[in-house]
Amino acid sequence: MKRSESEQERLIKQYAEKAKEEQGEIVALLAYGLGIVLNDLDDDPREYLIDMAWLPASHLDELGLSEGHARSTEARSTEDGSWAGIAYLRGRRSLIINVEAFYLEAHRQLLPFFLAQSMQDTVIEEVREARPACPVHGHPLNPAATPSGSLWQCPEGPGVWSCAMGSYHEASN
Ligand SMILES: [Zn+2]
Repeated sequence: MKRSESEQERLIKQYAEKAKEEQGEIVALLAYGLGIVLNDLDDDPREYLIDMAWLPASHLDELGLSEGHARSTEARSTEDGSWAGIAYLRGRRSLIINVEAFYLEAHRQLLPFFLAQSMQDTVIEEVREARPACPVHGHPLNPAATPSGSLWQCPEGPGVWSCAMGSYHEASN
């Protein structure tokens, strides 16, 4: 079904509100994971670089957002328990992230890794600078999933420079 952009936006708002009311615990978990990543990607919180609407991924079809339009990080899944993050960069809808239930259940410590991996390139394109920048070389740090959780690592190796996601500003000073 074709929908106009304004109608899509209205439905996205509506579904995101409903998700907050009915599945607040999951939305809070997603928002917490996103906050960790944004702490490191967003230099100035007053900038409002990214805003995210969270809704169950099963709504994407109905919204007409399953293909094309915004970039999707991977093949969309309608499996039960997967969620969609519709990301607005400086107010423009620019990315749809599909979060598998995997990251909301047994492996939630890797949710920041997954979100970072899904958003970092888009953020870098938008701000036109390395974020977060490696304190040693200045290139962007790579998201990494490790047994101790989600990290930022220097692409030249974890031994060169790394820090826990969410601690970049403290660790790089
Ligand atoms: Zn480096």
